[in-house]
Amino acid sequence: MTKSALMFEEGNREMKSLLGGKGANLAEMTRAGLPVPPGFTITTQACLDYYRQNQQLSENVMKEIESTLQRLEAVSGKSLGDTANPLLVSVRSGAVFSMPGMMDTVLNLGLNDETVVGLARLTGNERFAYDCYRRFIQMFSNVVLGIDHYQFEEIIERKKEERGINDDPALTTSDWKEIITSFKELVHTEDGHPFPQDPREQLLRSIVAVFDSWNNHRARIYRNIHKIPHDLGTAVNVQMMVFGNMGEDSGTGVAFTRDPSTGENRLYGEFLLNAQGEDVVAGIRTPQPIRTLADIMPDVYEQFAATCQKLEKTYADMQDIEFTVERGTLYFLQTRNGKRTAHAGVKIAVDMVKEGIIDKETAISRVDPDQLDQILHRRVDPTAKLHVLTKGLPASPGAASGKIVFDADTAERWAQDGEAVILVRTETTPEDIHGMVASTGILTSRGGMTSHAAVVARGMGKACICGCEAMKVDGKNKVVTVEGITLTEGDLLSIDGGTGHVIQGEVPLIDPELSVEFQELLQWADEFRTLGVRTNADTPADVAKARQFGAEGVGLCRTEHMFMEVERVPIVQEMILAENADERQAALDKLLQFQQSDFRGIFQAMDGLPVTIRLLDPPLHEFLPNMEDLLVERTTLSLQAEVDHIELAKKDALLRKIRALHEFNPMLGHRGCRLGLIYPEIYAMQIEAIFLAAREAVSAGGTVQPEVMIPLVGHVNELKEMRTLVDEIATRIQAESGLTIPYLVGTMIEVPRAALTAEEIATAADFFSFGTNDLTQTTFGYSRDDAEGKFLHQYVDRNILPENPFITLDTEGVGKLVQMGVEGGRRVKPDLKTGICGEHGGEKASIAFCHQTGLDYVSCSPFRVPLARLAAAQASLQKKE
Ligand code: ADP
Ligand code: MG
Ligand code: MG
Repeated sequence: MTKSALMFEEGNREMKSLLGGKGANLAEMTRAGLPVPPGFTITTQACLDYYRQNQQLSENVMKEIESTLQRLEAVSGKSLGDTANPLLVSVRSGAVFSMPGMMDTVLNLGLNDETVVGLARLTGNERFAYDCYRRFIQMFSNVVLGIDHYQFEEIIERKKEERGINDDPALTTSDWKEIITSFKELVHTEDGHPFPQDPREQLLRSIVAVFDSWNNHRARIYRNIHKIPHDLGTAVNVQMMVFGNMGEDSGTGVAFTRDPSTGENRLYGEFLLNAQGEDVVAGIRTPQPIRTLADIMPDVYEQFAATCQKLEKTYADMQDIEFTVERGTLYFLQTRNGKRTAHAGVKIAVDMVKEGIIDKETAISRVDPDQLDQILHRRVDPTAKLHVLTKGLPASPGAASGKIVFDADTAERWAQDGEAVILVRTETTPEDIHGMVASTGILTSRGGMTSHAAVVARGMGKACICGCEAMKVDGKNKVVTVEGITLTEGDLLSIDGGTGHVIQGEVPLIDPELSVEFQELLQWADEFRTLGVRTNADTPADVAKARQFGAEGVGLCRTEHMFMEVERVPIVQEMILAENADERQAALDKLLQFQQSDFRGIFQAMDGLPVTIRLLDPPLHEFLPNMEDLLVERTTLSLQAEVDHIELAKKDALLRKIRALHEFNPMLGHRGCRLGLIYPEIYAMQIEAIFLAAREAVSAGGTVQPEVMIPLVGHVNELKEMRTLVDEIATRIQAESGLTIPYLVGTMIEVPRAALTAEEIATAADFFSFGTNDLTQTTFGYSRDDAEGKFLHQYVDRNILPENPFITLDTEGVGKLVQMGVEGGRRVKPDLKTGICGEHGGEKASIAFCHQTGLDYVSCSPFRVPLARLAAAQASLQKKE
């Protein structure tokens, strides 16, 4: 059987699973000869044994604890319970992964009515001894017996009032003695038993309490969230006390070896004179910056700083260190890898490579891609004080401050006048696009994470909060009320799209920056990754942004977004409503101009890199007005005193068309290539625009690589027919100009049948792009908006699904279809290009899957490109291991 208890000097940092993180690091520091108060660790094995024995300490474990305790007594020259020379210890929990929810530390254990007298005599400081005793009763009673802290605080407060003083330090020895008497009475009443006086009982009960805390509610929930197994158990550290509360030559503090918010390489931390343990964190007194220690105790500071450096080298990472100074002597009480902001994480990783502490691979693996969102969007200055009004869905990260506007036109006008505006609406529609472009942030009271506002905002990299149900938006009267507060047009409001917080007034924002270090880290990532990274972008501006972030092409250009711009919607409507072929062609000709100039801009911005352009995908009714609105307008019109019959006839025609195009389930309706097959003239116009723009680029001496993508193909015949259309137009335009335009024709794989028949489909395709948004919808049979709005979060909470499959690719189901698609396609066409263009292309776990499946590239929104580069490198490093 493994040992149940080990002295610190018997362990090392490799023994985390047996000793827990804290224990392993205390052992390592002890081995390295650092001044660590002696102690021992009761192992996770002992904890598991305790649970096997139905929450009883077994004979064996008890024996080992006792014999190890005796070794500690020998080393320290003191004994537990010895009234002449009492050993006092701390009892600290320490699991393998540091976990909030585990038991808090008990300090000064071993004190009772007799040993406290010994401590007073030994230190010649009675006040100190009784201060320690009252702290011990407070902590033990709270942590082990479960008596609320405030009850003890109340007793202290009452004493201070009685004595007419404000601060703890002004309390005298006899005050503390009286307080201790009241404490003991409180414990007796609350617990039904007197406060335990036997130090060995105190110790065993504390150990058991730590073991029990492994299974408390908080800890279980934390482990569920972080996917930590429930059967690891926790260790317990028993360590001789050192005292930072022995006077002005003593103190306690916490320090980081580098600045955890900027990453700057300098000691960063806080220190409190004449204080014990948690005083620094508790915020009762304001600590002083660690630098001041250099003035107060120069020798201690020097030793401390030098040891910090040494610890950082040992662990090859930034350390978070707890220390105590007892009468001028320094002790280390804990070291661990420090938590840091994303910004600091990147800087520290890169700096450490340059300092020769870690290699590039380690640097790349150390930065969590999920944290990069913090860096890549404007964010609220973390030091600012905020007045949070309410919380909505964090639909698109980033933060924005501006004046409230309630409609798109005002947004546009005010923005032209140089105002920052926040567009506040119940929800947005394609007709609001110009207002969204003009706004710095978008806030809606309805809609989910995939509502129009959310999708468009994410695409634009704009801050957005949706579904803010607590907010009542009255767009007509231009007021919004929330939590009893009424705001009107022009009032200042801020939103934090990363947290979903709606904040009154303006908040200071910090700009996103690709710091020099970040760019360097990404360049290293590029050396290690094999997966390509492209972007999903629809406008030249987005494309340019994505290139700055390192995109190697466009993986998805959604042409319908070009249709939805304000000045174009009426033309699109003309095209849809055309009564005859001539009328329709006239509208298409106008659209052709727009599309051609869009593609020209995108080709220019991509400068020779491949650009995948998807032909029109959504059903046509999305471009028409809302039927209910129209009915209301028509009714109003018909009730007027003098009815405008021409206008009325127009409305009727429009209504007829909307009714004709109406679908019961638009997601599965007349969209994608089904549209192209029934109305080939729309696709023909788009193809023409692509090749005319490409021709312009080529004749200007540039290079282009257009890749025409046919959406929603389920049967090879659909693709064959559409491919013929592309080839005809491409051939004609090349022949007319005598120029060669290299191009590819491929398809989205986004319905299961396409993946299942990949071998047939590949015969007509040069590339497959897995549209995993729709593929997830069609594989699960979920409509995303309905699922996320109604049941999906419950599914995840109740563990019916491990994750939201629209965020993390469902590798078992949807992923299997992707695998089949890749394998099937490559069987008939070994050089078939494959990529993914769903939102999963910007999510780290899904990116790892794409790497393993052997895709050529992932494509994601411009702001996620750096994340994808890093995640792709991590995936290939992981495979190597
Ligand atoms: P946490 O995991 O919350 O940091 P710790 O067990 O590290 O909990 O300790 C809480 C506080 O008690 C820290 O400030 C630590 O420095 C202090 N402490 C722990 N053990 C001792 C000891 N043996 N002597 C003095 N202070 C201690
Ligand atoms: Mg703590
Ligand atoms: Mg600690």
